[in-house]
Amino acid sequence: MKGRLRIIYILGDGRSGSTLLECIINNDENIISVGECFCFWDRFYRDETLCGCGEQIAHCTFWRAVHERLLVKLKDYDPQQIKAAIKEILRPKNFSQIQAGRLDVDFLLKVIREFYLSLAEVSGKDVIVDSSKWPSWAKLLTMIPDFDVRLVHLERNLPDVAASWKKEKRLPEFTRSNVYMPIKSNISILRSWLSMKYHSGKLNKAQYFFLRYEDLCDQPKDSLKRLHLFLELHQADPLRYKPNHAIAGNPMRTYGEGTIDIQPVAKSKPKTISSFDYFFFKTCYKLVNLFDTLKR
Ligand SMILES: [Zn+2]
Repeated sequence: MKGRLRIIYILGDGRSGSTLLECIINNDENIISVGECFCFWDRFYRDETLCGCGEQIAHCTFWRAVHERLLVKLKDYDPQQIKAAIKEILRPKNFSQIQAGRLDVDFLLKVIREFYLSLAEVSGKDVIVDSSKWPSWAKLLTMIPDFDVRLVHLERNLPDVAASWKKEKRLPEFTRSNVYMPIKSNISILRSWLSMKYHSGKLNKAQYFFLRYEDLCDQPKDSLKRLHLFLELHQADPLRYKPNHAIAGNPMRTYGEGTIDIQPVAKSKPKTISSFDYFFFKTCYKLVNLFDTLKR
């Protein structure tokens, strides 16, 4: 690896198109794509899911090698302790408490540093694309001086995010039982979308790129050009679905191998949401945008 390890981190609310964006970025020879990799300490040790490579997660040679390295690198390695520490730090109310010098933060910084260096060592790649999405995780990553972190904040309009959360969605990576994404209430959808917007705004803007999902879909040429310039990556043409080791965040993404087809956003109301709810979210979205404009 030459210089600092580059980590491309996708920020965004759930159902915002982060899987599509990660697949687009995963088109460079020097990249390893790992999905929502903060889930490693849950998914690898529970062993109930498939990796993006199609293997049962605990049998995937990539993640097994990462596990072996962590055993060697971290003294008294305890995956359950790490999983509990991550769960706590990711709570939005703890975002402002993430500061070096705190015992829990310093502990996680050490774990995270060794974890990402292991991802690079095992894969032999210089760049990692991670779609963990949480602002708190992004904040931790940007506190590690060994890493060159590029934050890409993908924001999709609130009414379409809400419509997607109202849809029943089975997670195909769970092969032994039927596991579904939760169908969220209106308040929970609104709170999570606003929390993402608010906390992402608190991150280091020197390493930050804002991308509207609608711009990506409706003006892909211009959006992709700006994105690749920021990431300092070569833009492949055509873009293809490439092999990956996504541990969570729709790991079965590449089962439909081939060219990535970016479609314009539908302008009509999705069928999965009622007219009343759609109107509610459209109004909230307009008010947030108006507030944003006035603030500037
Ligand atoms: Zn794998």
